[in-house]
Amino acid sequence: MEKISASKLLAGLVPADFIREEVQVELVTTDSREVRSGCIFVAFPGEKFDGHDFAAKALENGAVYVVVNHPVEGVPAEKAILCPDSYHAMMVMGANYRSQYHPKMVGVTGSVGKTTTKQMTYAALAGFGETIKTEGNQNNELGMPRTLMRLESSTEYAVIEMGMSHAGEIDRLARAARPDVGIITCIGVSHIGNLGSQENICKAKLEICNGLPEGAPLVLNYDDKFLRAAKLPAHVKPVWFSLADENADVCALSIRQEEDGMSFVLEDQEEGTFVVKIPAMGKHNVANALAAYCAATRLGCDPRGVIKGLSNFEQTGRRQKVVHSKGVTVIEDCYNANPDSMKAALAMFKEFPCKRRFALLGDMLELGKLSREAHEELGRLAAESDLYCLVTYGENAKRTAVVAAAKGVKTLHANNYREAADALLNRIEPGDALLVKASRGMALEKVLEIFYAEQ
Ligand code: ATP
Ligand code: MG
Repeated sequence: MEKISASKLLAGLVPADFIREEVQVELVTTDSREVRSGCIFVAFPGEKFDGHDFAAKALENGAVYVVVNHPVEGVPAEKAILCPDSYHAMMVMGANYRSQYHPKMVGVTGSVGKTTTKQMTYAALAGFGETIKTEGNQNNELGMPRTLMRLESSTEYAVIEMGMSHAGEIDRLARAARPDVGIITCIGVSHIGNLGSQENICKAKLEICNGLPEGAPLVLNYDDKFLRAAKLPAHVKPVWFSLADENADVCALSIRQEEDGMSFVLEDQEEGTFVVKIPAMGKHNVANALAAYCAATRLGCDPRGVIKGLSNFEQTGRRQKVVHSKGVTVIEDCYNANPDSMKAALAMFKEFPCKRRFALLGDMLELGKLSREAHEELGRLAAESDLYCLVTYGENAKRTAVVAAAKGVKTLHANNYREAADALLNRIEPGDALLVKASRGMALEKVLEIFYAEQ
């Protein structure tokens, strides 16, 4: 963060006469341990600690103001920015800070593939100038303003991930970030419990348009029936990408899965035809790469440089990371899982070149009423995925095991990490491949730790 005057940063959060003496703010933090002079400390009521308990100390340690939800003992009124919702305060400060800068900005939303597409867009743009991106998965009303506050005068490009679980959230994020280009990766079923239907999820993602200027490119998935059917606002210019249909603006043809990634021919109706290779597996990653390509080229970057950048893409966290261990190829995908990403992962795995396919699949969490059906459907999918052996882990995944076994898949249900690791260690041989996927909360990486240590 570069210095910004408190009156600019806090505009809209405090009355105009609140700031009696102008000060420069150098840091906005929610972590009391980071507090130093020139910073604003934002108190969040957390599960374990309440930030308000550290507000007075933050002032002692040099904070120029503290954001608090209610008056706090030891915090004088002239130092307290009273705001009932600390997320809102972060969003206002993020938007105010952002408005000092003029990077070319891409906003990425969608049901799945946001982080991957964000990483790919970053890879596509980074060769063209100083680029910042959302770190990890910080895509909400806390993480996004934090990212905006990393903009600097030298920043030429910014790639911002925007997540949501309710209607209205993308609207707020997009109005604060004001991207120049939007991407919607696809419309899935995540958070359907809150939104009611996929049509509503689609509407919620399209709220990104509320932050886009007149004539801005909106990169959309032509293969997604909800996006195709959606009514788009007149002020955006759709740029459609497709894995199948040459009528789209940008289309991937001759898609081939190779051992170290995907290769394809990219046909861009505006820019021409290019051969592309990306170090990521699965057709869904080709779709993500097309989205990144569309965003970067429609910002004016040269397609060849964009494609070169894409070939340097690096995945973060354990999202489909390919690890070679003693002759076994492990596809670590334990970062997250939901029905859409499971389907994509199994489709990728089915085409994966190897001797025998092993899958360790765990629970997909937070599915509410859909959970039982989704885990049974996963069993049916597993049965169509050419698996040599399926190992399941988790209460819900028991249903997956039952269905897959009934369909003739060699299936073992593990009751703990040790059993899961043993099931694999006892069977897997060099030349085999293993896909590991579940929701974050299942922590399947713990199975991998045992597996790698004892393999
Ligand atoms: P989150 O909601 O956690 O932020 P996300 O939208 O950022 O998720 P990623 O982290 O990029 O999504 O990907 C999560 C998983 O979804 C990946 O591990 C992969 O299996 C799958 N995936 C990625 N891209 C796509 C896509 N375009 N279509 C379907 N599945 C995808
Ligand atoms: Mg993400």
